[in-house]
Amino acid sequence: MGELDLVVRARRAVLEGTERAVSVGVRDGVVVELAAYDAPPGARQTVELAADEVLLPGLVDTHVHINEPGRTEWEGFRTATRAAAAGGVTTLVDMPLNSIPPTTSVQALDVKRAAAREGAHVDVGFWGGIVPENLDQLAGLHDAGVMGFKAFLLPSGVEEFPHVSYGQLRRALELLAPLGALTVVHAEDPDVIDHAAAATGPSYAGFLASRPQQAEDQAVARLVDLARDTGARVHVLHLSSATALPAVAAAQAEGLAVTAETCPHYLGLSAEEVPDGATPFKCCPPIRGTANRNLLWEGLRQGVLTCVVSDHSPCTPDLKQLATGDFGLAWGGIASLQLGLPLVWTEARRRAVPLTEVVQWMSRGPADLVGLGHKGRIAAGAAADLVAFAPDQDFTVEADRLEHRNPVTPYAGRRLTGVVRRTWLRGTPTDSDGPRDSGEARGRLLVRQP
Ligand SMILES: [Zn+2]
Repeated sequence: MGELDLVVRARRAVLEGTERAVSVGVRDGVVVELAAYDAPPGARQTVELAADEVLLPGLVDTHVHINEPGRTEWEGFRTATRAAAAGGVTTLVDMPLNSIPPTTSVQALDVKRAAAREGAHVDVGFWGGIVPENLDQLAGLHDAGVMGFKAFLLPSGVEEFPHVSYGQLRRALELLAPLGALTVVHAEDPDVIDHAAAATGPSYAGFLASRPQQAEDQAVARLVDLARDTGARVHVLHLSSATALPAVAAAQAEGLAVTAETCPHYLGLSAEEVPDGATPFKCCPPIRGTANRNLLWEGLRQGVLTCVVSDHSPCTPDLKQLATGDFGLAWGGIASLQLGLPLVWTEARRRAVPLTEVVQWMSRGPADLVGLGHKGRIAAGAAADLVAFAPDQDFTVEADRLEHRNPVTPYAGRRLTGVVRRTWLRGTPTDSDGPRDSGEARGRLLVRQP
């Protein structure tokens, strides 16, 4: 037993779903001891949180599009992981598309890993992709340690990542089920979308009508059937339509391996407040009305939805069509990696939802989804990924103070509650508050745990 490297003392800490005072002992980047707040063990360094701070486990964001290499001008590992660290996210999982190459082969995964290794400020894992022509690559990607596989049921927005038909997805699930691999799906039904009027111009109502709830509801119902037929583990990405929740709940009650996530923008924003022409709010599926949003909160509190993750999907300002405000032409995606916790917490607080539940959805839930049992919790044996969070401090979002590459955000000027004051990755402070690009990158590349 060597000396502890670090002890963090907190009058308030979120542990095992409850809040209590604690002294967290860290050695070699791992939590090795949870001691009484009043009886901290000796250590080389002791940090005492301020009276208005709560100690949280680092957030785990399993839905992040980093785009490097190939579209690094949209977002890269260095900028995205700096934004993550500033927002208390210590682990993220990169989506397989929008980079070139997309992560649809082991060689492409190697390319992504080489890019990430250079600049990651937090730990990074990878999703593999399912496209029509790569079913022979899935076992190799699984063996190479991807966290699971992503598929689209309709055009993804980039031509090098084509979508699969339900039949093609079924064949992929049949291959993946015996491996125990997780498949995550962008679930909007292409036929329903094709029958809706396409979005053009600055009307938000027009855009919303082009992505009807029935598209999600129909796709989720088909996915549940595929999970039942194949025995594969299926996860619904960025669920926006609350009328799809009963199908997810019924699948879970039936014992199927079906899970679902939602995102901060669906929880914190409503269609009624999106101005016409405000393309920074464009994402797919879209931000829907207030009544729908209230039902998403219900779905979380009832445990039907188990994760809140960013779907951080940035691009360059020109692709957001800021000048024309055209919802038909603008790239769909909201960059919010750095703001997820305050966005969700601001709204949770208004609804009297405790911080412990928010932490469950943003740390433990996503960690468990991808099998990272040592992440997303403050517990003996877990990584010492920690966040000092001031839950009662307000701030105003300033786009140019966000760390992601292009300062485009629908949240500019918004008043939020909850400030991430400090982040530790495996017991070491992240350097997000240091001068830009001067810090030492400390993130590691993660592989799926057996
Ligand atoms: Zn996404």
